[in-house]
Amino acid sequence: MQSETGVNLRPYNTFALPAVAQTMIRVAGEADVRAVVDHPAYGRAPKFILGGGSNVVLTQDVQAVVLKVEVRGRRLCEERPDAFVVECGAGETWHDVVAWTLEQGWPGLENLALIPGTVGAAPVQNIGAYGVELQERFESLDAVDLVTGRKVTLTRAMCRFGYRDSIFKHELAGKSVITRVRLRLPRPWQPVLGYVELERRQAESGVVSPDAKQVFDWVCAIRRTKLPDPAVVGNAGSFFKNPVVSEAQCRDIIGRDPEVVHYLLPDGRIKLAAAWLIDACGWKGKSVGRAGVYEKQALVLVNRGGASGAEVVTLARAIQESVYGRFGIRLEPEPVVV
Ligand SMILES: Cc1cc2nc3c(=O)[nH]c(=O)nc-3n(C[C@H](O)[C@H](O)[C@H](O)COP(=O)(O)OP(=O)(O)OC[C@H]3O[C@@H](n4cnc5c(N)ncnc54)[C@H](O)[C@@H]3O)c2cc1C
Repeated sequence: MQSETGVNLRPYNTFALPAVAQTMIRVAGEADVRAVVDHPAYGRAPKFILGGGSNVVLTQDVQAVVLKVEVRGRRLCEERPDAFVVECGAGETWHDVVAWTLEQGWPGLENLALIPGTVGAAPVQNIGAYGVELQERFESLDAVDLVTGRKVTLTRAMCRFGYRDSIFKHELAGKSVITRVRLRLPRPWQPVLGYVELERRQAESGVVSPDAKQVFDWVCAIRRTKLPDPAVVGNAGSFFKNPVVSEAQCRDIIGRDPEVVHYLLPDGRIKLAAAWLIDACGWKGKSVGRAGVYEKQALVLVNRGGASGAEVVTLARAIQESVYGRFGIRLEPEPVVV
């Protein structure tokens, strides 16, 4: 167990927000988590689990013991007629794992390419993009309980996945360190191309039957045009979840704003595009202090240089108020505010 004190967290969060961790412990395996649990000082102290810091907004110095998850390793652990199952350490970089599985000839993660962060955080918010959610490629995970030090294995049903949601945002929030994740890559492989921008790319290219590498390249190209690179402009990706409303609520909004972008869900409810709502309120390209709304995508808040977490939160609240004032909808932030 390796512990450091007074750690500057700016390089460890993609928003590049300033904050200092009083104590940070790098976790390379389950034994490290157990050593923390058994430690006379750290055992009972509050903890904060950190992966790649791409879904957090740090508003202050962190007094809780920061557990920086760095568990490595990737392997094929099962080859079944219906799937390849791969196991990855929670500290592996998500995008590297996506690229590696494709190189190995185990497609299925290509729509989730270029999502920043670690494998261990992927189940926390059930990452999703371009028509695929993690839960559709998930087999099971290992986690260590931060009170008992016991290792547990959770199946898909036990993780209670939802839209950008899982048990790790509720009962197990901050209580369990995910150490390993097993991904199920279905056989035979079928491309998922229903997403409008992918359909457009396919039509432009004239490719009738794309392979997984082709889909991967399209997803990467689309993301590079739409989203700011955190290495250049600090951000945490989509800042708000797309709100889900009833058909009656949606009809009411369409009555007033016929152009509102919306999608019908299988359960009859309707998902509204949060980016459209924010844009309609005139926020695209605007700033509050040194925090701003990205010019090309209203759902992404950015650090215009030297912003504090408090400035980001002030901007987010102002957006929430104006969207609520105009549409009666409360936008819910996607990143974890610390
Ligand atoms: C440019 C950009 C684009 C993005 N695009 C998408 C997208 O398309 N789809 C999408 O779903 N998300 C997207 N995101 C959000 C983000 O990439 C994901 O949420 C990612 O899974 C976060 O990983 P992380 O390792 O950085 O987690 P962190 O930000 O470090 O942590 C996020 C949360 O998970 C918890 N956590 C982290 N690791 C563990 C662990 N091992 N065990 C238990 N809890 C843990 C933390 O305590 C925290 O609550 C984007 C972000 C950026 C910056």
